[in-house]
Parts: sequence; C-alpha cells; structure tokens
Amino acid sequence: MRYLTYDDGQGSRLGALRGDNIIDIARLMDGGPASMLELIQAGPARWQAVAERFGQIQDADLTIANLARPYDEKIVLAPIPKPLKNVVCLGRNYYKHLLEGAIARGEDDKPPEAPIYFTKAPTAVTGPFSQIELDETVTKQLDWEVELGLIIGVGGRKISKETALDHVFGYTVINDLSARDLQFKHQQWFKGKSLDGSCPMGPVVVTPDELPNPVHIPLRLRVNGVTKQDANTEQMMFDIPTQISDISLALTLEPGDIISTGTPDGVGAFAKPPQFLKPGDIMETEVEGIGVMRNEFVAAS
Ligand code: MG
Repeated sequence: MRYLTYDDGQGSRLGALRGDNIIDIARLMDGGPASMLELIQAGPARWQAVAERFGQIQDADLTIANLARPYDEKIVLAPIPKPLKNVVCLGRNYYKHLLEGAIARGEDDKPPEAPIYFTKAPTAVTGPFSQIELDETVTKQLDWEVELGLIIGVGGRKISKETALDHVFGYTVINDLSARDLQFKHQQWFKGKSLDGSCPMGPVVVTPDELPNPVHIPLRLRVNGVTKQDANTEQMMFDIPTQISDISLALTLEPGDIISTGTPDGVGAFAKPPQFLKPGDIMETEVEGIGVMRNEFVAAS
C-alpha cells in the first residue's frame, strides 16, 4: 500500500494510491479510518482488512462519487501532519557524513560507539510540496538532509533486533532541515532542528510489503536541479533493527512514532565553500521506491 494524507478542500483525508488515483480510505471502508494515525493505531488486523478491500477495487468503482480522485501534488499533506510526539532522529549515522563533519571540525573520524539521537518538534512537520518560509533574521544557514523515515505501527518496549521490522508500519521520506548556526550556537541540536517547516515529510508512506528491503535503497537530494546528496541506505552505521531495538530499550515506542534514520554525506555546511538554502531555491528530496518531495523556499513575510 502507498498511503498518503491529502486535503479534499474540507479537511485532511486518508488516501491510498491506485495508479494515478487517490482512493479515499474512509469511504472505501464505509466510515473509517479517517486519518493515518487512526489507521496505524487500529493495528495489523485493520491494515490487512483495508489492504484486502483495496485489492478488490475495480476500474469501474473509480466513478463512485467521492471514492477516487486524480493524484495532485497540490493537495498532498505530510502523512502525519501533526505527530503525537517529537520525531526521533539519528545523528551522524552514515560514515561519509561523519567524515565530512569531522574534517570540517578538525576532529578524528571515529564512529560513535552508540547511536546519536536528537528530536524535532511536531510543529516542524510540513508537507512534501509545501512552500517553506525562510526567515533570515532567525537563520542564515539553513541546510538540507535527505533521510529515510519510518513510522512505528506496533508499539513495544525492549524490542529485539530480530523482530524489530515487525513493528514498522511503513517508510517515508524526511528532510531533516537544519539551521546550522542555531544547531552549533546552542550546542544541543533541538532548536536548530525544530524550526517551523523544517521537517518536510512524504509524499507517501509505503508499507513494508512494497518495500521489503529498506537496507538497500538510493536516496538523493537536489537543489535547483543540482545533485547534492547521492547515497544508499546500506551505508547506515546503525541499521534500522538496531535503531528500533536500541531506542525501545526502556523507552516505549508507540504506534505513530516516527524515526528519521540519518543523512548521508553532501550537506551544505561541509561543502567548500559552505552552501545554504535561500529564498527561491527548489529542494527535491528523494528516496527511491517511495517518492520525491519538492519544496520551494520563500522569504518570510
Ligand atoms: Mg539528520
């Protein structure tokens, strides 16, 4: 399934892609679930029921009133527009990104012995095709970070690596936009990583049956058509089972929790000379098999 959240003009709805059409899931299921979170929280038996009903859709059904509408980027929202909790992020989880940072700081490139975590505020989340306001009185160093995101479906505590992937509802694309001047000035990364609009997410959530091997997928980032990041999730130092297992050790993961798995090399801060986003830039964030987000930056009014 390729789930998405979209705005039908009256509010946000849960949909799933069938070719070039968005199928409205609440109408397909005669009343619910009405949102991505409601679906996730309903649990695996409900996911199975939705997938089975979805599989029975015939082309002729697409003419049923309000059941289907053409896919249109303009109406696509973040899959979970307002997460229940902060997005949990991995820092320095790709060796070449660790190395580019170490060189810039004049430190050694010793990989961390344990995953580095920080979080982004729920209010940072924005749509995959939304304009993002860039307020140069707040930051002059806004930087990109393409990442594979995952959404927890089945909660748990002390989840083993062996069963970790059974807890995943699906995968999405996240850009961990980072205000480097704030990130480094405040030392703790939270504020610099949590500006409004600094967590574009989407365009869809792909369920594991359609993305069975998330450990080997290309991820890329372009600014104004120029490739800045081009890597593969196989380069993660702490893989997804390790992340889920380690985070859930004494910290309960719940349905709808979001983990952003780290960014590869090619960020702007460590380019020579450094490069940062500016009003008018078009940023494309891509994870192969999931999709491409396209965000334009505009000067804050
Ligand atoms: Mg990051």
